[in-house]
Amino acid sequence: MKVTFVVPAIGKKPGQRYIGTWKMEPLTVAALQALTPPDVETELFDDRLELIDYDTATDLVALPLETYTARRAYAIAARFRARGVRVVMGGYHATLAPDETAEHADAVVVGNAESVWATLLADAASGRLRRRYEGGVCAAPPPPDKRIFAGKRYLPVGLVETGRGCGHVCEFCAIAGFYRHRYHPRPVDDIAADLERSPHRYQFLVDDNLMADREHLTRLADRIAPLGKKWAGQGTLDLARDPALLARLKRSGCELILIGFESLEDASLRQMRKPWNAVLGERSALVRRIHDAGIGIYATFVFGYDGDTAATFERTLEFAEEARFFTAAFNHLLPFPGTPLYDRLAAEGRLLHDKWWLAEGYSYGQVAFRPATMSAEELASRCRDARKRFAAPRNLGRRGLASLRRSAPREWPLFWAMNTRLGEEVDEKMNVPLAANLDAWPK
Ligand code: SF4
Repeated sequence: MKVTFVVPAIGKKPGQRYIGTWKMEPLTVAALQALTPPDVETELFDDRLELIDYDTATDLVALPLETYTARRAYAIAARFRARGVRVVMGGYHATLAPDETAEHADAVVVGNAESVWATLLADAASGRLRRRYEGGVCAAPPPPDKRIFAGKRYLPVGLVETGRGCGHVCEFCAIAGFYRHRYHPRPVDDIAADLERSPHRYQFLVDDNLMADREHLTRLADRIAPLGKKWAGQGTLDLARDPALLARLKRSGCELILIGFESLEDASLRQMRKPWNAVLGERSALVRRIHDAGIGIYATFVFGYDGDTAATFERTLEFAEEARFFTAAFNHLLPFPGTPLYDRLAAEGRLLHDKWWLAEGYSYGQVAFRPATMSAEELASRCRDARKRFAAPRNLGRRGLASLRRSAPREWPLFWAMNTRLGEEVDEKMNVPLAANLDAWPK
């Protein structure tokens, strides 16, 4: 039997070869590869980097999909199914919208696919593929088999999974619902073994919230410190309340923490059910503590809550510029299916499309709901302008100097490489039509 993994892309504008130059390894594919029996042949097409061979000889196509890539995944599935190849789909979108996904696939995996992959392959081999597999939560994923990435041009950063889920209940978050508001830490020795195997100096610790289990994070930091790796990961601002933990993280190789500040408006934080972000204390002081520990911050902000106005953008930008963050993202709110946000906006009659991810003409960067204080177009364009202003040379220079003071000289190129590319990508990504222009290279 042969399985073809296909990682779908979002889309491209006419004439674009691909969006951006940096693509992360699709870690899920490597995890499933590790669980695939040796007598099953596999191959991978990454739609973000290469053209898909729709005529490849195969028995089963496996497509992991997110909401942004759902429409493209359905189009890919239709091409394979037209020639009689069975298609299985999984991932966040398949879990949050399983009935919709089932309309386009022979089988759907709800939850983590690792738990049911071996059964699914055996069913496929014996011609008894079921319509739905319930994967539940797999808290101890296997060591990924990354040999399937050979020859693909991925970012030279090792992805290592450290935990799944998060105990918080942020209204817009798809992850929280997926894991039913629980955190599932991965065994520390498994993480260390993956890090030791990684050929890369820089690692991204894949975790929805590293701070969800402080004791686990402490043990992890102590365990990986001797490995001499440099890493980035995703946490929350309350990290700054624990100076001893901050020092431990730095010793373990932490260079950058992604923190969802989301909003500076108390009303917006309350509405998104993240009020603890406001009560943690004075933000600037907490940010300073993280910076003083020698750790940079990738700050993320979200706009479009009912109390957000034009002044909110100005205030947020001033805060981000003053803080000299390593980098920052300025996103508009997006109602993902299966989230409380989606249900609320639907109940209030404010969704511009029932399913924006399938809507004809919908493109990346468009706002899919009616904001309370400005038009959808104004919200989208203010987010784009915030990204451009933050990436402008004057800001870049000031942030770069601050970053140099936090890190050893060997780490300095990381700041410039990452920020230069992120700045260039702002307009490359805006208005990319979903599921478009992917089946041929531009002439
Ligand atoms: S803290 Fe982050 S991962 Fe957790 S629910 Fe909120 S947005 Fe989701």
